[in-house]
Amino acid sequence: MNSSTTTSGLTFDVQLSAQRKTPQEREQLLENPGFGTVFTDHMVSIDYMEGKGWYDPRLEPYGPLTLDPATASLHYAQEIFEGLKSYRHPGGEVACFRPEANAARFNRSARRMAMPELPEELFLGAIETLLSHDSEWIPSQPNSSLYLRPFMFATDVGLGVNHPSRSYRFVLIASPSGPYFSGGIKPVSVWLSEDYTRAAPGGTGEAKFAGNYASSFVAQSQAVQQGCDQVVWLDAKEHRWVEEMGGMNLFFVFGSGDEARLLTPALTGTLLPGITRDSLLTLGPELGFPTEEGSISTDEWRRAAQSGELTEVFACGTAAVITPVGHVKGPGTEFTIGDGQAGPVTMGLREELVALQYGTRPDTHGWVRTLA
Ligand SMILES: *Cc1c(COP(=O)(O)O)cnc(C)c1O
Repeated sequence: MNSSTTTSGLTFDVQLSAQRKTPQEREQLLENPGFGTVFTDHMVSIDYMEGKGWYDPRLEPYGPLTLDPATASLHYAQEIFEGLKSYRHPGGEVACFRPEANAARFNRSARRMAMPELPEELFLGAIETLLSHDSEWIPSQPNSSLYLRPFMFATDVGLGVNHPSRSYRFVLIASPSGPYFSGGIKPVSVWLSEDYTRAAPGGTGEAKFAGNYASSFVAQSQAVQQGCDQVVWLDAKEHRWVEEMGGMNLFFVFGSGDEARLLTPALTGTLLPGITRDSLLTLGPELGFPTEEGSISTDEWRRAAQSGELTEVFACGTAAVITPVGHVKGPGTEFTIGDGQAGPVTMGLREELVALQYGTRPDTHGWVRTLA
């Protein structure tokens, strides 16, 4: 079947899937979707060609891509992505949390990788189009959502390396995701990586660039070998300044009760500017916690944890929202944060953020975009 959907003044050609899951099949898949393994019936694609711009925006059946073996992105990794969630609000509306911020970051990543920017209205129009057809894939259990994965890759065919690709494809897929923590919130243990670095000054650490992940897996495996859940990245030069945890930003809580204050590593150019991090920089002070962007070394982290001045540490990002960090290990060091359990500041911030995302608290920041 062919038709078209007009969203945000843009027309997306609509080709509905002939193999849509039946409501029963869908319900079965939604019972325990996990993360990133179940996909909806459709995807959105948009093509780009130098001199022509973006063309042929379309909703089409979810399915494999056919690529020439010499497709540039398979060789030289010009590929960026985003990650955000859509939620079912109590009134039945479908909402996204700060999608404009994802659109803006997508374009900052594109500029770093010499890729074309995608106009915000196309980014948001793609989300609107996909959700207007696939929103029944939003799971109904508490703390579930439909994870949205927009990405863009180089499609030129040829092995020349002297210039970026002249053609690209943008694709948006969606994956129902269950509660990240099925057995309640469990603090993670982390490994301080001195052997590997995620990002160096002038590099690609600030971009949501696929290659940053490719180079991180070996460090993540090392963390697991050390008996830890996640890797913590340190600065490239001194291996001393704390940057991020895996694919999440970090927050440090000093003091407790009315005296608690928050610190998150500043965006030096090698950190990924998380939208969750940015939201917490606003929510922290609103909940009464002075919040600053600064720097913390691994020595300072250990010293403050051992003196009891540092009471909680947590990581934040779209997928897991907020994850407490309970235990830290590194070459020649090992210590616990507080009693190793999730602390009250961490859980209070988590509850506030989740309530805004799921629409159970009024949106006083203009962060919620209702779509369908
Ligand atoms: C995506 C990502 C984050 C978190 O960003 P959010 O916008 O909060 O989801 C943090 N670090 C890295 C390396 C990331 O890729």
